[in-house]
Amino acid sequence: MATLTFLGSGTSMGIPTLGCDCAVCRSAVTPAPVGDPRNRRTRPSVLVTWGSSSQPHGVLIDTGPDFHHQAIRENIRRIDAVFYTHPHADHILGLDDLRPLTFHLPEPLPLFADDLTADAVERVFDYTFRPATRGTTIARVHLHRFQSPNEEIELFGATFRRVPVNHGKLSISGYRFGSAAYLTDMSSLPEDSVALLQNLDILVLDALRHAPHPTHSNVENSLKLVEQLKPKRAFFTHMSHDLDHSATNAMLPPHVRLAYDGLKLSFDLTPEVPA
Ligand SMILES: [Zn+2]
Ligand SMILES: [Zn+2]
Ligand SMILES: [Zn+2]
Repeated sequence: MATLTFLGSGTSMGIPTLGCDCAVCRSAVTPAPVGDPRNRRTRPSVLVTWGSSSQPHGVLIDTGPDFHHQAIRENIRRIDAVFYTHPHADHILGLDDLRPLTFHLPEPLPLFADDLTADAVERVFDYTFRPATRGTTIARVHLHRFQSPNEEIELFGATFRRVPVNHGKLSISGYRFGSAAYLTDMSSLPEDSVALLQNLDILVLDALRHAPHPTHSNVENSLKLVEQLKPKRAFFTHMSHDLDHSATNAMLPPHVRLAYDGLKLSFDLTPEVPA
């Protein structure tokens, strides 16, 4: 079995949103039972771990600006690869915090990204990819660009497959791994991706808020996608301060829940990914 850990479940501004005094933002920083710590949402990312319990393999999907704090909270000691979804700041800015986790690796840490994301990562972290700066305290990473839209990457017996999703006008990367899929920053699903998302135990998908948004799915639309794809369980992420954790959960069907920072789910990493 493998574990999916939500490092962060919030939208790009994080919850509490700076300068906001709404009930959800206030609840996020008020101790329970008056407040609800599940409303404290850091920037979105997940960790997939499997293998030996003393030294599990670890794969990240995205490294956001809260990665340093998230890695301390979850006691992350080892990362074997990172998959990037797209080049927005809330998904890439923690790349530099990978540095101390890469110094001792026998090979540079592999980062997997589509061209759009790889171009941005090379621009933002140019010193990391400039040969002249090697040998200092620069991250030891190797950027792999996907060669095809549905590319499969094998890692220690697990397969991670890219699943294209629409983020407004951008086509970005979702991922399927075993019986789980992670689709953040998604406004709609291309027809060809539907076949890659069958027979899921766990579907994680973007649900920003109740009101429609041009580049993100909302609760109503994500519920329709859950109905269409029929995973055993679904979890919403990338949520704004419009969604209070317990009030929103109360109106969802029992197999659909809001994710929260630190939530851990067990799932099977072995099933064949459908062709
Ligand atoms: Zn985002
Ligand atoms: Zn707020
Ligand atoms: Zn985005």
